[in-house]
Amino acid sequence: MSESEQYSRNTLMDYIDYRPLDIEICDVTLRDGEQTPGVVFTREHKLAIANRLNSMGVEVIEAGFPVVSANEKEIVKEIAAQGYNSRICCLSRAVRGDVDAALDCDVDIVSIFIAMSDMHLKYKYHRSFEEMLGCAKETIEYATDHGLKVRFAAEDASRTPIDRLKQAFLEMEKEYKVQYVSLADTVGILNPTTTHYLVSEIYKTVNTSICIHCHDDLGMATANTLAAAEAGAKQLHTTVNGIGERAGNASLEEVLVALRVQYGIDRYDTTRLTELSQLVSKYSGITPSVNKAVVGQNAFTHESGIHVAAILEEPRTYELFLPEMVGGKRNLVVGKHTGTKALKGIINSIGFCLERDELCALIDKVKVCTEEKHKSISREQLEKLITQVRQETKTGKPEGEEKVSI
Ligand code: MN
Repeated sequence: MSESEQYSRNTLMDYIDYRPLDIEICDVTLRDGEQTPGVVFTREHKLAIANRLNSMGVEVIEAGFPVVSANEKEIVKEIAAQGYNSRICCLSRAVRGDVDAALDCDVDIVSIFIAMSDMHLKYKYHRSFEEMLGCAKETIEYATDHGLKVRFAAEDASRTPIDRLKQAFLEMEKEYKVQYVSLADTVGILNPTTTHYLVSEIYKTVNTSICIHCHDDLGMATANTLAAAEAGAKQLHTTVNGIGERAGNASLEEVLVALRVQYGIDRYDTTRLTELSQLVSKYSGITPSVNKAVVGQNAFTHESGIHVAAILEEPRTYELFLPEMVGGKRNLVVGKHTGTKALKGIINSIGFCLERDELCALIDKVKVCTEEKHKSISREQLEKLITQVRQETKTGKPEGEEKVSI
């Protein structure tokens, strides 16, 4: 199947003037994702996830926060030693001990963060902006002196005065040649318009690559991430299934599929997304909601008669992209809303062929069953109903003995 047959391109994009996206993905499932309440990944879990991210073509993997524990540090070190194409990054506060831990892990990039918002300065650090910036500078100098590449990350950037951000980023660029400056929407306050404005302002100010790290407290993490990319952000932060602190982060599967369908970026192997999502569900104990984009159980499930009938002729009538593109499966469900044409298509597709009167009898039974039980019916149940209908039309009377339970 050709690329163009796998999804419908958003042709409205042709009318919009935006610069071609120059992006990379930094997946933070192993760090922010693990900060989801109740989630602890084992060494095997982390390696399995990192392996898949690497083989999908994700450019940067944030492997952890080494000072959290000796075990965490060992795992980050092991991931960094795998020789992946993905570069490995780890988190560090603006203290030397954290940088020492990153050095022990031999990571490619260390992400040194401070918050510069009044809220965090006053209630978290109890220190001034100047004092915190001083700590960051000292730590960054120490890291670069030891050969580490540095991302200078502004936590709570979306609630930080923009001039303060500009000043800090400019100084880090000039004095220490940091490799990235990072904007974190730590509490998920941004929307696409304000994200675009914030990133554009920083893009005009510095030459250093910009990272964007979005949280989903208002359900806008993916949209904000893409708005940031349109405004010039280079590195987009994601997590598998969107897990992360509170409402989570921008989800890898949504961002990768949107990049492909909307912006034509097709270098990531999206066919592994469903498998990776299921793996992270199993390891984290968090199953995405059934209506979650891309990887939810209903992402390719159809019941309504009009939809199923059209899908049987051409799936793109009601699917933006085909399940194969993300390694998923289509599921046609028989239920209350199923029409005759759709039912005929479904039973043909599972190897049955009914006469017109049998089909009408079957659809009556399907509606009674599903309305009584308020549920769709499974394939096995459908096959039982087909057998019933055939016997009844042969003998000319309803069987009544065996009831299909659903
Ligand atoms: Mn975060």
